[in-house]
Amino acid sequence: MHIGLFGGTFNPVHIGHLRAALEVKEGFDLDEVILIPAALPPHKMPGDVADAADRLHMLNQALEDSPGLTISDVELKRSGPSYTIDTVQHFKHLLPEQSRIYLIMGMDAFLEIDTWKSYDELLLQIPFIIINRPKSGSAASGPGWKFMENFIASKISTDYVFSESKNCYRAKNKQPVYVFEVTSLDISSTRIRNLINKGRSIDYFVPQKVAEFINSKGLYL
Ligand code: ATP
Ligand code: MG
Repeated sequence: MHIGLFGGTFNPVHIGHLRAALEVKEGFDLDEVILIPAALPPHKMPGDVADAADRLHMLNQALEDSPGLTISDVELKRSGPSYTIDTVQHFKHLLPEQSRIYLIMGMDAFLEIDTWKSYDELLLQIPFIIINRPKSGSAASGPGWKFMENFIASKISTDYVFSESKNCYRAKNKQPVYVFEVTSLDISSTRIRNLINKGRSIDYFVPQKVAEFINSKGLYL
């Protein structure tokens, strides 16, 4: 089994998440990409985060007809804030030993990796797949992959070397960090929450059922 773990707040889930998950699944020939909503996102202000149950419900609605894209509530069931290192351990124990597990994240998330709990251990334990994200990082030109190279060298380790053929950074005793280009969709949950707040439509940024649920519950007003 080849599995991708794709964590996030999903507050709410939008088509940027869905399209990225699908493209990584196809690009890496994964059997499954598991979307994992975080309980108390350690990097976020709790104020505008919808209830875990609502975020999970929206994910379920979004993925109703998506074979190979699934959801895990493991972080919601755990007490306290969600740490990716714990989630990775969970799936390593759960899945058959020969499974190949990848950690998927946008470049904006990766560029904060040095603030994550046990990030060096994470880099030892699991290969990463980093996807491009419009407007993440520096506002001037967007970060681009070059930005990532500088980040890795300055904040993580100078041992990493880019392998052109594999499209990944490799270092001795570390798992590879792949870079993977997905269709660039400049959509974020923040933007969706802001639209709702201004009384504007979020149609076509989220699956229709998700938009209906948000409207019916009056979320993010
Ligand atoms: P917020 O604006 O609240 O931070 P978000 O849109 O960034 O929401 P998250 O739940 O924070 O969504 O993101 C979960 C993961 O999905 C992160 O790794 C993030 O980089 C990635 N991601 C989110 N939106 C996109 C997108 N449009 N394209 C590619 N990756 C994305
Ligand atoms: Mg985000």
